[in-house]
Amino acid sequence: AENPYLLSVNNIEVIYNHVILVLKGVSFDVHEGSIVALLGANGAGKTTTLKAISNLLKAERGEVTKGSIEFKGERVDVMTPAQLVGRGVIQVMEGRHCFPHLTVEENLLTGAYTNKAGRAAIAQDLDKVYAYFPRLKERRKSLAGYTSGGEQQMTAIGRALMARPRMILLDEPSMGLAPQIVEEIFGIVKDLNQRERVSFLLAEQNTMVALRYAHYGYILENGRVVMDGDAAALAANEDVKEFYLGLA
Ligand code: ATP
Repeated sequence: AENPYLLSVNNIEVIYNHVILVLKGVSFDVHEGSIVALLGANGAGKTTTLKAISNLLKAERGEVTKGSIEFKGERVDVMTPAQLVGRGVIQVMEGRHCFPHLTVEENLLTGAYTNKAGRAAIAQDLDKVYAYFPRLKERRKSLAGYTSGGEQQMTAIGRALMARPRMILLDEPSMGLAPQIVEEIFGIVKDLNQRERVSFLLAEQNTMVALRYAHYGYILENGRVVMDGDAAALAANEDVKEFYLGLA
């Protein structure tokens, strides 16, 4: 049967170093055009889940040992990270990972490396990124290492956009940022979702903020999904408030 979801993760198990079982059968789906939040405390397995999808576990000596991952109905857990990028699945790593000695604009251009459309198209894509992130346009000649944490997060998302993504895996974008900047960044994520129809899988410890921008949420605890639901319903749920509000 045809898979109706953009992304579906089916009962995956992940083991590090052949012995450390971190994901114990995680399943969830992302509808095309949606923002899905993957929530849970530090160590619950959010980053591991994103890396399992984008196939970045090998470098960490991690391995998907059970289950499957499909993007647009195609098995992707057997693909290389580059093949995934080619299909439009782009991960923005936790901690931003800009090249500090390159300018903001040079950082953005590194995201266009798979874009075979040529220089004119790349210039257009760059203009589009600047339209979403006017701050980056102002800072385009600055070395990324000298920009603020919020600007570095914007640069990391902008670089992902340069690859013309269908789906962005966004790891902890709020980390270390002032509340006002977090709102600014999530506001842009929402715009990108609505106007460009980029789908997002958003790993966040900042539960309540993430649920204000996401459509749907899954809560991970100890390598398992313990709850899921519409974002508004999760945000109103007493257990969620009690257990997760304090962790934000
Ligand atoms: P964070 O907010 O810190 O990113 P998380 O929910 O994303 O938390 P993970 O980073 O996926 O959680 O980590 C889940 C568990 O896997 C933790 O117990 C962590 O110690 C363990 N872990 C992560 N990476 C490795 C590794 N390379 N080798 C062994 N164990 C690891």
